[in-house]
Amino acid sequence: MVMLVSDTHEAWLQFLEYVKERCSAAAFRNWLSPISITEATESEITLEVPNIFVKEYLISNYKNELCSFLPLTHEGEPALNFIIATPVNKAPVPVAAPVVEKAPQEKRFYEVSLNQNYRFETFIEGPNNQFVKSAAVGVATRPGQSYNPLFIHGGVGLGKTHLLHSIGHYIHDKNKKMRVHCITTEAFVNDLVESLKNKSIDRMKRFYRSEVDVLLVDDIQFLQNRLNFEEELCNLFEALRNQNKQVVITSDKPPSQLKLSERMIARMEWGLVAHVGIPELETRVAIIQHKAQQKGLEISNQVAFFIAEHIYNNVRQLEGAINRLSAHCRLLELDITEDLVKKTLREMLQHAPTEKISVEQILKSVATIFQVKGGVRALKGNERKKEIALPRQVAMYLANKLINESLQMLGASFGKTHSTIIHACRNIEKKSVDDEMLRRQISMVERDIYA
Ligand code: ADP
Ligand code: MG
Repeated sequence: MVMLVSDTHEAWLQFLEYVKERCSAAAFRNWLSPISITEATESEITLEVPNIFVKEYLISNYKNELCSFLPLTHEGEPALNFIIATPVNKAPVPVAAPVVEKAPQEKRFYEVSLNQNYRFETFIEGPNNQFVKSAAVGVATRPGQSYNPLFIHGGVGLGKTHLLHSIGHYIHDKNKKMRVHCITTEAFVNDLVESLKNKSIDRMKRFYRSEVDVLLVDDIQFLQNRLNFEEELCNLFEALRNQNKQVVITSDKPPSQLKLSERMIARMEWGLVAHVGIPELETRVAIIQHKAQQKGLEISNQVAFFIAEHIYNNVRQLEGAINRLSAHCRLLELDITEDLVKKTLREMLQHAPTEKISVEQILKSVATIFQVKGGVRALKGNERKKEIALPRQVAMYLANKLINESLQMLGASFGKTHSTIIHACRNIEKKSVDDEMLRRQISMVERDIYA
């Protein structure tokens, strides 16, 4: 299929677009522009970088994002290779120190324009993201008066930026006077570097403290590599909060797992910490139908379920699948059948583990690792003692995470309703944020299951 060859190439271009929106022009020019593709097959991409710094920059800042754009191999890994260009008779490319843009005096500080498609109305809700969505709506309805800051965390491609921009749109639509300022952490740091060099740091401070009513900060995990700038951002959060100005932060990890100072972590935990989970099967189907509809594409429920069963941990990849299908069908004027989906999405589909994990397996591992008195039988029972109730909830949480089944079906396997499963998942997610021991036990169970 000729089309697939250019798909990896296309994915790289999409990734560049994505990064372009989130970093300053100077950073883009220094770090991203020098990268070129030397080879892109349907399952592999090779990038040529001028030196090791550029590679390191890409890997340490954008690896997850890049992978979320690339098609997956059969092992579920995007195959990404690098070659370092050999400079032939050329002066070495000066890279480590980014070129500083001379900022004209009145240049406004970097700002991300809100993506028009990222609105509450287009965010599909399900049990694993309902809580975070209502927190976001709460903040948008009463900025500065409910939770401040609102901290949204979760894996790549699960809708954090979508929610962040939705908050911005909502506030702006209700009150045009509200000055909503949306930045990525990386752009903020770049601005800060520039301001320090241009001696315009006071202007920057003034701007953020007196000309912004709502501050939306995307991807705070970037600050981990830029610790020198932590204090500035920390002071800014404090200043804004003292003026009851709303701050919303997104991150790929909860505050306690970020490698940042205690003070910064404490500030981020001041308000509400909310998690965006992986949407379960039914929600993924709804997302697929919604995205397809937006593209004017008709997809049968059967096909939507097929896609949702195979692509399960990243909504961006679901979207990629729809785009690919859409392009393919338009081109060849074909109807979308399961067979066609299989062919077109071959390398995107994540193959479910050959052996399906069962609830029994999970219960057995949980009983062993948590040393539950009474074993699996006790876990299946109704006893509410903490020593049994907690491991039982862990089993439900893992079943939801590892087994690709509807909540109803999972509930039935435990002899409970689907809302018990939802409750268990929320409780375990909440608890494991602060409880390292619990997190460790859970990953031990996972390892045991797969062993
Ligand atoms: P993140 O910031 O968590 O990496 P994004 O917000 O960029 O993820 O989301 C990736 C893509 O998936 C976006 O196009 C977004 O619109 C879409 N998306 C994610 N979650 C949902 C959802 N629940 N409903 C609709 N679209 C979603
Ligand atoms: Mg994002």
